Amino acid sequence: MIGFALSEEQRLFQETIRDFARREVAPIAREYDEREEYPIAILRKMGELGYLGVPFAQVDGGAGGDSIMAAVMSEEMGYVSAGVYLGVYVHVFLALNAISRFGTDDQKLAYLAPGIRGERVGAWAFAEPDAGSDPGSMTTRARRDGDDYVIDGTKLYITNGSIADFVVLTASTDPRQGMKGLSLFIVDAGTPGFTVPRRLRKLGVRASDTAELAFNDCRVPASALLGAENVGFVNAMRVLTAGRVVSAAFALGTARAAFDQSLAHVKSRHAFGHAIGDFQGIQWQLADMALELECAKLLTWQAAWLADQGLPHIKEASMAKLYATEMCARLTGQAILLHGASGYMMDSDIQRFYRDVKVMEIGEGTSHIQRNTIARQIGL
Ligand SMILES: Cc1cc2nc3c(=O)[nH]c(=O)nc-3n(C[C@H](O)[C@H](O)[C@H](O)COP(=O)(O)OP(=O)(O)OC[C@H]3O[C@@H](n4cnc5c(N)ncnc54)[C@H](O)[C@@H]3O)c2cc1C
Repeated sequence: MIGFALSEEQRLFQETIRDFARREVAPIAREYDEREEYPIAILRKMGELGYLGVPFAQVDGGAGGDSIMAAVMSEEMGYVSAGVYLGVYVHVFLALNAISRFGTDDQKLAYLAPGIRGERVGAWAFAEPDAGSDPGSMTTRARRDGDDYVIDGTKLYITNGSIADFVVLTASTDPRQGMKGLSLFIVDAGTPGFTVPRRLRKLGVRASDTAELAFNDCRVPASALLGAENVGFVNAMRVLTAGRVVSAAFALGTARAAFDQSLAHVKSRHAFGHAIGDFQGIQWQLADMALELECAKLLTWQAAWLADQGLPHIKEASMAKLYATEMCARLTGQAILLHGASGYMMDSDIQRFYRDVKVMEIGEGTSHIQRNTIARQIGL
């Protein structure tokens, strides 16, 4: 049997989160983009309402939802503000997800449960000044010293970096082994030796917080190790594969918003005595946009469905992420053209969508890295 419809529970959830996104987030999205400030109250409220627990088991304080529900939430939140949602996304689908998969009972109690309630915020620190796509060149080290580890290194471009209460980070515990010597750690903000030297300014997703993190002789107990030693790369990849499905949905949401506003605009804007949507050239463009949205949705839901069945989905997750993020960048650019100058003005949502989505082709593995993954998966 094959089905493309949401279940009743998933459909009701879609209505609820859509209502939340449009009521609580849409009205403040532009303001926080302009202020380049993260609206932490949104994340806290999502915790109070149970949304941050969607992908986690009820025994851990989660809502016990599935990957389709995670995709639905990301699409609806991406529809109103990629900037606001990026902080939620990193907190839930990267930091908390890693703890949910590999954490001890004590770690789940200390980070996952309060994280789901929105009381403690997490960051995910993988990238470094000289290591983004290539984790083998990471230089952050975690050296065992008695009952502790001592961490030294710099992490760069870290979402939630200056607002997080804790950071899930990758560090090398065995530099001779390259990627096979990486481990994951959870480090609390305020730990001596852990500082945030600077916040970074960006082209888009300006309502998200991005920072550099520095670790100098940062001593953490051995209990800060997340998962086993030297399997941090494999574990991080598991988290990122799940994250790619969700980030595809996230991109789909912003692309759909750009499409909906374009469709409304071509019906109401007139030129040469006609609504511009009467011109065949414009109609074909909207038809192609609608087609691309459907393709992205099918790829995304397929990857989410495979994940929920416990079936392999590395290739499908990369395909969904690659297609949806590139499609989103294309569509938001086309949406500016369809809006003419009005879409280029700073009081337009369209210019914000256009700026926000470029990062989706870069984060969680660039488009090149997704193509490399797909090539490996098809046997090259
Ligand atoms: C707004 C924002 C938020 C971010 N948030 C986080 C976060 O929360 N946590 C985190 O860890 N990171 C975060 N990042 C960092 C992001 O994950 C990295 O930027 C990304 O992995 C790419 O790494 P890089 O920037 O070092 O580019 P590089 O790795 O230097 O790549 C440069 C170019 O080379 C290409 N390239 C590299 N290797 C290959 C190859 N083998 N084949 C073909 N092409 C290749 C890349 O695709 C790219 O086009 C964020 C980035 C941004 C912009």
